[in-house]
Amino acid sequence: MSTAVVVGSGPNGLAAAVRLAREGVAVTVLEAADVIGGGTRTSELTPGLLHDHCSAIHSMAAGSPFLRTLDLERFGLRWCLPEIDCVHPLDSGAAGVLHRSVRRTAEGLGRPDGSRWERLFGPLGENFDALAGDFLGPLTRVPRHPLLLARFGLPSLLPASALARVWRSQAARGLYGGIAAHAFRPLNRPATAAIGVSIIASGHRYGWPVAAGGSRAISDALAGLLGELGGRVETGVRVRSAAQLPPADVVLFDLAPVAVADVLGDRLPAPVARAYRRFRHGPGAFKVDFAVEGGVPWTHEAARRAGTVHLGGTFEQVAAAERAVHLGRMPERPFVLVGQQYLADPARSAGDVHPVWTYAHVPHGYDGDATEAIVRQIERFAPGFRDRVVGKAVRTPAAFEEYNPNFVGGDIVTGANTVRQLLARPRPALDPYATGVPGMFICSAATPPGAGAHGMCGAHAAESALRYLRRTGRRSPRVRAQDSRTSE
Ligand SMILES: Cc1cc2nc3c(=O)[nH]c(=O)nc-3n(C[C@H](O)[C@H](O)[C@H](O)COP(=O)(O)OP(=O)(O)OC[C@H]3O[C@@H](n4cnc5c(N)ncnc54)[C@H](O)[C@@H]3O)c2cc1C
Repeated sequence: MSTAVVVGSGPNGLAAAVRLAREGVAVTVLEAADVIGGGTRTSELTPGLLHDHCSAIHSMAAGSPFLRTLDLERFGLRWCLPEIDCVHPLDSGAAGVLHRSVRRTAEGLGRPDGSRWERLFGPLGENFDALAGDFLGPLTRVPRHPLLLARFGLPSLLPASALARVWRSQAARGLYGGIAAHAFRPLNRPATAAIGVSIIASGHRYGWPVAAGGSRAISDALAGLLGELGGRVETGVRVRSAAQLPPADVVLFDLAPVAVADVLGDRLPAPVARAYRRFRHGPGAFKVDFAVEGGVPWTHEAARRAGTVHLGGTFEQVAAAERAVHLGRMPERPFVLVGQQYLADPARSAGDVHPVWTYAHVPHGYDGDATEAIVRQIERFAPGFRDRVVGKAVRTPAAFEEYNPNFVGGDIVTGANTVRQLLARPRPALDPYATGVPGMFICSAATPPGAGAHGMCGAHAAESALRYLRRTGRRSPRVRAQDSRTSE
């Protein structure tokens, strides 16, 4: 039987482990922390309330071509949709409101912006499942739907600031800008439209759901399936060098490239080591989880029913804040994301006290305290918020890196979304998952298609590992059977 070790139990590590175990490979996952899940952990950060430590909103996981094949509902994963996906309020009292339905979103944006939103995102949402197979993976593969991919790809290659010119109203431009800001890049850079376009397209197909019981349900379900397939997870094992690794036919690292370079040391070919050490990380996140009595008193009524609220004002204000953090300056009014997962999943609250998830985009490695800046941004659109806060838990960029070394300098998306790294991450290579050391692969969010709890990086890396097992004859019975089927 072939054997595999996966280092790191984030959604990509677990997805890789499941993909290999399904082919009959005996898999052991080694996790540094005491709890599995990487960016999908959930716990009581304030007494009695369930807070997502990292990821919260899961259109990409719900729409993941790999996760959807796993029937994770059998292991307790259940998606819950808020009534409204996302609201982007403005000082004027207006707001951009995103619904799962592209038609309802368009109606809310009015004319002519609504019809423009529908013309651009309607076809992408409708064709998301066909498209996802092509764009949620390495761009070196031959696309199965080239025309559709071109329709998706052309707007994606634009700077977000250029695509924003499609809309006239501040509400539509702000709504788009807040979603585009998930790229963590100055919005006038090429291809900064890509992340926003893919989040909007997946949202119009799957909505912006949360996992019942918290995002940990994603990793718990993956680990449950892995256990059923005979795989094992060991927690509390930090892998620092290759000498620590148990013998295995293949090893997959759910780690940042620099950590793979540290673990593999001299075994890594010099050009790969250089590329991994040069891999660029983006700005940081400063997170505050609040316990809020009575919920956030948003001025805009729709925000009181939305799973996500984006705070940053107009497109231009969001763009200015993103430019500042990119340049290493902390803006007075940072872009702030607010998650109200309890609206879709009320069991996370305790009576009328609710968990409110927030984080601000801050400079890489920022060592100041952004708590007050976050509170002020919320107060701007929800006066009286401050008086309702009865508890909070803070995580700085340095604490993020300590919590999970993949979040270098607080970079929660494990790699800057530069054009180069959007097109070829973690290094230009036909097989971006190969490390150059035979049988060793990288499978974290630093690889295509990048950040998110969708597990697609892990699934693709596992395919590379399976190809290696077939090529080298280190094959499990099931991989061998599949080989003979494909060679017939
Ligand atoms: C605040 C925040 C908000 C986010 N919001 C969203 C969201 O709403 N939706 C979404 O889809 N995504 C979101 N993300 C991003 C998402 O969480 C990540 O992209 C995703 O978790 C990446 O998965 P991964 O498996 O590549 O790595 P990770 O989840 O980072 O897991 C890596 C694992 O490896 C372990 N590890 C590290 N070093 C070692 C070592 N040397 N030895 C052993 N184990 C090691 C870590 O402890 C960790 O468990 C968010 C992230 C953060 C932090």
